[in-house]
Amino acid sequence: MQKPRKLPLRKCSGCGQMKPKTELIRVVKNQAGEVFLDLTSKQPGRGAYLCRNPACLAAARKARRFEKAFSMAIPEAVFSKMEEELRLHE
Ligand SMILES: [Zn+2]
Repeated sequence: MQKPRKLPLRKCSGCGQMKPKTELIRVVKNQAGEVFLDLTSKQPGRGAYLCRNPACLAAARKARRFEKAFSMAIPEAVFSKMEEELRLHE
């Protein structure tokens, strides 16, 4: 009998649930201080995770989770862009 493969779990910045990394989208801050959705999961930089759900993005935004994770102020435009991209990849 094969053991189920253990998937690495990450916590969604919105709803706070632990989920397999593959079910979440990575939000990354690169060296230039830009914050964006890392749709390839391969961008270098500090990362936070989010469900593929605009409601979780909204919750994370409201609770200022990314500001805390990345220690910076995040402009409105960054959230609008992430929201747009998230809707496309839902
Ligand atoms: Zn979530």
